[in-house]
Amino acid sequence: MTNSVRKVAAAAATAMLGAVLAGCGGGAGAPDAGREAARMGTPAAPGSASASTSPSASGSPAAAPQAGAPAKPPTMAPGPNGLTPVFERAKQQTDKTVALTFDADMTSDQGPRAEGGEHFDNPALISTLRTLKVPSTIFMTGRWAEEYPDQAKSIGTDPNFEIANHSYSHHAFTSPCYGLPALDAAAARADVDRAFAAFRQAGAVNTVPYFRFPGGCYDDQALRAVSTAKVTAVQWDVVSGDAFAKDPVAVAEQVLSGVKPGSVVVMHCTRSAAPVTEEAVQRIVPELRKRGYRFVKVSELIGK
Ligand SMILES: [Zn+2]
Repeated sequence: MTNSVRKVAAAAATAMLGAVLAGCGGGAGAPDAGREAARMGTPAAPGSASASTSPSASGSPAAAPQAGAPAKPPTMAPGPNGLTPVFERAKQQTDKTVALTFDADMTSDQGPRAEGGEHFDNPALISTLRTLKVPSTIFMTGRWAEEYPDQAKSIGTDPNFEIANHSYSHHAFTSPCYGLPALDAAAARADVDRAFAAFRQAGAVNTVPYFRFPGGCYDDQALRAVSTAKVTAVQWDVVSGDAFAKDPVAVAEQVLSGVKPGSVVVMHCTRSAAPVTEEAVQRIVPELRKRGYRFVKVSELIGK
């Protein structure tokens, strides 16, 4: 390899890395953002969704939810032809609720980088969300849970949080998707299960049947591929721009200008790719509260 070829290759690798991480919901918006609105279904009635796990009138202990586990979270009814439903924002909401969501990204091939000292976790962010009492939904990859099992358990047993599925591998469920390696339909379906298995293995119990496509990339084929997993796909309507951001004030301003009642904000729980998120949250939370907003988990938005 000549020097110039090497330089080009290195530049291409850097560009691809940037694209991959920006693809964790940090890009300019979901490629299918326009289309998913058409797929918004009607949320399943919360009453019927929770009926199966609510203790019966006779108080049968067998019907009671498992100790430590939350009541069954609401999901949306499947879309046309049984496709996985897609939730983006609670548009029917008039009260000022907002869901901050954090993607705990780690790709299946990033183990060596973690061993090399790169931090894919962000304990200070989790601590701040606890201190500020901000209920939040963490979209975790299975690989992240394997790398940080103690944190996955701590988050997944704290009622302040719920853990949703962000795939095991953080590979693409449809291609192209920011240069992420693509999974075929069978591998995509298995990838969802493998992430839930990793959460269980870590000891997380506050898991919810919500799924965020890596990079937010999906099409009808991807929605069909994961339909038997019975998850609700969760996108977002507010991009925080925290991926690779250096200025927490700019991230906070972007969020504050984008939030509407019922909004879902996408942020990240990984120091490696989103180093100023915790500082941004410190600014966002008091300001939105001043404006009358209440922070909720995604399950509360879907359940309304
Ligand atoms: Zn991601």
